[in-house]
Amino acid sequence: MRTIMGFITENVAKIKFQLPSGVMLVAATKTQDAGAVREAISAGVDACGENRVQELVSKNALGAYEGAPLHFIGHLQKNKLKQVVGICELIESVDSVELLHLIDARAKQLGIVQNVLLEINIAREATKTGMLPEDLPQILDSAADLDGIYVKGLMAIPPISTVEGANSRFFAHMYQLFVDIGAKKYDNISMGLLSMGMSGDYMDAVREGANSVRVGSSIFGQRKY
Ligand SMILES: *Cc1c(COP(=O)(O)O)cnc(C)c1O
Repeated sequence: MRTIMGFITENVAKIKFQLPSGVMLVAATKTQDAGAVREAISAGVDACGENRVQELVSKNALGAYEGAPLHFIGHLQKNKLKQVVGICELIESVDSVELLHLIDARAKQLGIVQNVLLEINIAREATKTGMLPEDLPQILDSAADLDGIYVKGLMAIPPISTVEGANSRFFAHMYQLFVDIGAKKYDNISMGLLSMGMSGDYMDAVREGANSVRVGSSIFGQRKY
């Protein structure tokens, strides 16, 4: 008998087959409804990544993310901190020192430690948020003093890649930062997660050392806004 798998289930299976073991598959769930998110979780994605607070709140109320850790992967506005800190297992997209301090303060209010990644603007794009590599030493020094947060690694969103290998130098640079920081000793910081690579380039990212990829359209199909 032939089993007919759903489109999402089949896509997740294909991607998981390609990824080396130990690489985390985060489903980028923006614009997807609760049913689609649930199918991706049953198919075995390791986490869901949401990048709009409003969507996160409404899907979370429907129980859409049950069974998988929830990550925040979008630009987090100060006035929306409360809907994310303590709700998401990991905030991947901390793009400023100010945000780091605000998350720390909110986490302390809640009596928790919030796991975060530092988002690096690795391609130095003026249109993108994120920290610049040369600012990292100073940022890490201040992060080490914040015991309401725990920095678990780095994240990057290079330009949308259309050609294989187009982002490989950015991924390689990220890996170098990840290894260099990991070799130093800081309080509240350990380099365990390197989150980079999306539908167009996740295998390039993995080849350069990513151990977590964020995939949307290759799981769910083209997004409809
Ligand atoms: C949407 C999104 C992704 C996934 O993009 P696809 O190209 O659809 O795989 C990854 N990371 C972030 C931060 C996103 O917003």
